[in-house]
Amino acid sequence: MSFKDLGLSQALLNAIERKGYETPSPIQEKCIPVVLEGKDVLASAQTGTGKTAGFALPLLQQLAQRPQKHNRPVRALILTPTRELAAQVLEDVNDFGKAVDMRAAVIFGGVSQVPQVKAIRNGVDVLVATPGRLLDLIDQRLLSLSNVEILVLDEADRMLDMGFLRDIKRVLALLPERRQNLLFSATFSKDIKKLAQSFLHNPVMVEATPENTTVEKIEQRTIRVDKAKKTELTIKLIAEGKWQQVLIFTRTKHGANRLAEKLDKAKISSAAIHGNKTQNARTKALAGFKNGNVRVLVATDIAARGLDIPLLPHVVNYELPNIPEDYVHRIGRTGRAGASGEAISLVGGDEVDYVKAIEKLLGEKLSRDIIPGFEPLDPETAPEKKQQGQRPPRKPNPSGNPRNKNAGGSANRNGGGGGNKNKWRGRR
Ligand code: AMP
Repeated sequence: MSFKDLGLSQALLNAIERKGYETPSPIQEKCIPVVLEGKDVLASAQTGTGKTAGFALPLLQQLAQRPQKHNRPVRALILTPTRELAAQVLEDVNDFGKAVDMRAAVIFGGVSQVPQVKAIRNGVDVLVATPGRLLDLIDQRLLSLSNVEILVLDEADRMLDMGFLRDIKRVLALLPERRQNLLFSATFSKDIKKLAQSFLHNPVMVEATPENTTVEKIEQRTIRVDKAKKTELTIKLIAEGKWQQVLIFTRTKHGANRLAEKLDKAKISSAAIHGNKTQNARTKALAGFKNGNVRVLVATDIAARGLDIPLLPHVVNYELPNIPEDYVHRIGRTGRAGASGEAISLVGGDEVDYVKAIEKLLGEKLSRDIIPGFEPLDPETAPEKKQQGQRPPRKPNPSGNPRNKNAGGSANRNGGGGGNKNKWRGRR
């Protein structure tokens, strides 16, 4: 199938070509025609599936085909959980939006509201926003949502995980009754289903193909190690493996800071990225990592979610997540676009139960290695109680079949695994 078969206008087809996309991804094939028909959509897709273009293209076409209002009020609202994701979504919306004379803007907290307010005053058709700043501006009467025709909730599961349910409900109450709704979520918990039922009308279910996913191409290893020796082992792995770039996950913000500092001391240039960092610091860290100045990016789950990080040969779980689905999200950062990748998890005595939950979700056993000199001395105990900044543990998907198996999987991300990087190598 080609983009031409999906019902998109010539102007958008030209923009797609300029962007270098050759073939639609599975989620795009399914989503675009349905959204163009004006139907509500409940989509199971996560970052890396091409979901952004999946909703942005038909949304822009719909708006462009309808009469424009003179003062350009917000007609499409895209809610995202994080600032980084909001910024990335804006980039895609802008790339396509220019072709059909649609203006877009982004609003999120942590930076001055002045330019954001100015952009809204000048008129925007599509607004990408995180819930907090959005409500803030509405409360200040600087923004109205009374003309919204299309609503997108992007990464809805993550928004709930981050405690945005109340904010989402407030936003929903401010929207006109008649509108089109699109909900994207990587996982479907009871809460997501409840939320979906509360505002979607006869939604069409759309799923990113879970077959032949890259999780199978990712070599997964766990190393049982003494908790106290994790940093030393990380340094050894980076040095001996001569890794040029690695993404390391920690469970807490403090943990991320501490590890980045220790690696820096060991002359391995590192940056931490998490929710306590200012927007500028996060952007700088990510840019440094992308341009190669930063060798190690240490991230928490929430900060890493939705980041458009290029293909990485190595991902390390310095600490395992207490939510098994997060493990799949994390390792989806490697092995993209058909290239193989390696995901190594360092397992302390109190994390052995997390491995079991992950294995249950994956439906397979992970190899468990021990490195000479780093033999575990700490006993195997139950996981530590909830720490600051952690979310409560969630039960694994009862089917035992990871819905999000293709975490970042079928995507051909920027800098993908060689060959023609913009061709969506459909694995259907
Ligand atoms: P997303 O899942 O929307 O975050 O997209 C993941 C990555 O895939 C982004 O870098 C997109 O620019 C890229 N992408 C999206 N759709 C396509 C396509 N049809 N062909 C090639 N690359 C794409």
